Amino acid sequence: MKFRRELDPLKPYNPPWISHEAKAERGEGDYVKLTANELSFGPLPEAEAAISEALPRLNRYPDRHAAALRAAISGANAGIRPENVVVGNGSSEVLLNLLQLVERPGEVVFPWPSFSLYATIARIVGLEARRVPLRPDHAVDPDALLAALTPKTRAVILCNPNNPTGTHLKLEEVRAIADRLPEDVLLILDEAYYEFVDDPSYPGSHELALSTQSVVCVRTFSKVHGLAALRVGYGLAPREIADYAERVRFPFSVNLAAQVAAAASMGAPERIAKRASFVIEERTRLQRALDEAGVEYVPSQANFVLAKIEPAVFRRAGVLVREGDALGYPGWSRITIGNSAENDRVISAFSGR
Ligand SMILES: *Cc1c(COP(=O)(O)O)cnc(C)c1O
Repeated sequence: MKFRRELDPLKPYNPPWISHEAKAERGEGDYVKLTANELSFGPLPEAEAAISEALPRLNRYPDRHAAALRAAISGANAGIRPENVVVGNGSSEVLLNLLQLVERPGEVVFPWPSFSLYATIARIVGLEARRVPLRPDHAVDPDALLAALTPKTRAVILCNPNNPTGTHLKLEEVRAIADRLPEDVLLILDEAYYEFVDDPSYPGSHELALSTQSVVCVRTFSKVHGLAALRVGYGLAPREIADYAERVRFPFSVNLAAQVAAAASMGAPERIAKRASFVIEERTRLQRALDEAGVEYVPSQANFVLAKIEPAVFRRAGVLVREGDALGYPGWSRITIGNSAENDRVISAFSGR
């Protein structure tokens, strides 16, 4: 058959050292896996209990509208109503569904380096990708981002904090971008690392989803909630966007286990905040150790740190990190913050301590 030519460059993500990674995932070999910004702890006991309780109902389709989950999410964000909440099979599906909504031909603009999925999804749905370089300090450059817009721009994706750099924009900076965007350009704020930010001038972006017609905050249960394997994410959106996103969503894309576990996890905000605090403390400890070792790194507001250390340094110590080569940072490593013992191993790998 004749394939769409633009699909040819899409290659599945093939991490080098995949055999080590597979072993680490199975708990075999003496490797720790700090490649994918997962939480090093399992789900909350509340989430596990909710899944056990739901098991006898696996014969039935789940709630098509994920009403209980959407209610739990709206309850956690002041002013957000269930009609403002979109859910998906991971926040990846939410991003896909949002980009299905815009007119084409058209293009999606995003800072770069950032999350590689943006370019992939753009290609899949037939949009062009326009990448705007980060500033020399590895942060997003709002002026450059706005200057890159063309009449063909349909959406802007802002990863905040940005993966892989961990840099962030304050709420006022995000608001300034939203204010300056043409009305018919969708602004997607990918906030996968929202809970790990400790800058008090960051939170509150959901107000933009309420006060504008075209801003959506996208968040996930894959990171601080420790539910990456269940695949569930969500968006906080103006009602009209939420309505359209639901039209293109694959029926039942969020399964029963994901719905009940995510709702239970959302219902335990103090315990989730405690996990985030742990990660933030450990991030501080790692960054201090990098300072002491005189290693260049990008100060992070996420659950990873991008440091100018060859991945091989870590691999020799049994620590798997994300190779900077694949992220636009050759010679660097993106290190996920793990548990205390894992972070000890990271620190001793580069400091010899
Ligand atoms: C990890 C991550 C996500 C989460 O994707 P899910 O599909 O929810 O697992 C989204 N965006 C970015 C930038 C990420 O790093």
